[in-house]
Amino acid sequence: MDNDNARARASARDLLEFIDRSPSPWHAVAEMRVRLEQAGFQRLHEETKWSLTAGGAYYVIRDDSTIAAFRLGAGSLADEGYRIIGAHTDSPGFRVKPAGGQPRGGHASVDVEIYGGPILATFADRDLALAGRVMLRDPNTGDVVRRLYHSDKAVLRLPNAAIHLNRQVNQEGLRFQQHDELSLVAGMLHDGLPPEDAFRAHLASRLSCEPDDVLAWELAVADTQPGGFCGLDDEFIATSQLDNLASCHAGLDALLASDGDAFSGVSMLVCFDHEEVGSQSFKGAQGSFLPDLVSRINAASGVDPDDRHRAAAASMLLSADMAHGYHPNFGRLYDQANQAKLNGGPVIKINAQQRYATDSAAEAVFMALCEEAGVPCQKYVHRNDIPCGSTIGPMTASALGVRTVDVGNAMWSMHSLRETAGASDQVAMIDVMTHFFGRERLPWRTDRAT
Ligand SMILES: [Zn+2]
Repeated sequence: MDNDNARARASARDLLEFIDRSPSPWHAVAEMRVRLEQAGFQRLHEETKWSLTAGGAYYVIRDDSTIAAFRLGAGSLADEGYRIIGAHTDSPGFRVKPAGGQPRGGHASVDVEIYGGPILATFADRDLALAGRVMLRDPNTGDVVRRLYHSDKAVLRLPNAAIHLNRQVNQEGLRFQQHDELSLVAGMLHDGLPPEDAFRAHLASRLSCEPDDVLAWELAVADTQPGGFCGLDDEFIATSQLDNLASCHAGLDALLASDGDAFSGVSMLVCFDHEEVGSQSFKGAQGSFLPDLVSRINAASGVDPDDRHRAAAASMLLSADMAHGYHPNFGRLYDQANQAKLNGGPVIKINAQQRYATDSAAEAVFMALCEEAGVPCQKYVHRNDIPCGSTIGPMTASALGVRTVDVGNAMWSMHSLRETAGASDQVAMIDVMTHFFGRERLPWRTDRAT
């Protein structure tokens, strides 16, 4: 294996391990936190006053599932501005309802709400775990404490109906009625214990507390199958949550690899929760987290109000989210001339309706960065007759007033429980992102210079 291949495989392998350790957005942030701490980043709490040092590296977490990390360069913030990579920590799926279970024909079921837009059928006949966070009452103080929980094994199942009972399944597709047919089977009823109590007792025993002290939870249904390589030459990787933990992982790797020597503004990674449900929450991309953070960094750096606008004008955001890779069996779903392939390198996503924030200037800058980093790059445009999804790009660009390019790696089966991407793309995205953080100035001339 040559050097490039070995690097690509190592990055893909590390991504798979990152996702294995991140079965929910709360776990993903905990895993990012571990990596940031190991690299010497210092935690800032939103509740405390900040004093920041030029050259310092910091991170901030809002409500356990949104995180930002940044290096504060030693240069003039007004002149250098911010270089921000934005991504999201959440993935579509199921969330356990507050009444955690109910009896169904002698079986204990766990009822779930649909979170975002998952491909429901991909949850059928898989070994499903639960992961998320649980709020507990501290019996000594009465305080609410939060704990991460991961079942670590398959505890739930969404069994298919047999084809003998559902004869049209291959003609009509596998459909689940969204209210009545999505309860997940958790076991048989026994000991006369109502399923709700059995579920609470399970959580309590795993979290070493009394069942009555389990107050509330946000629990996602997660896959138990570890990520892996596939293809005759291991060309692909398959796992859950590639959308969008692959971008969180790439951005984090790039931030950790950059030393802050050449670019002397602020290099930042921000990963939001709630993208899959519209981003409108106090920790979502439409919330105040990023504007608050930028304003606090500006204040701590002694940037006056006029210079804040200069800093924004000098800044650039790279909105990183996965892209639709060309699927050989479904060629009709793609714009033939503007499609991207797995293992073809980072994809610039373009949409005239501004569902993606890319404009020609940001597109050209990203192309130049790719070329300098020795990375191929592709462009993707959605078909006119299929509604295009969106990203955090447009909302973040408009909230900050910062030029933005929407990019991502190509993948198949977006929003499936098990998604597929190209094994060589992760290292390519990391390389161009590292260059984005590392280049002394962005390869463009501002209005001022023309
Ligand atoms: Zn996404």
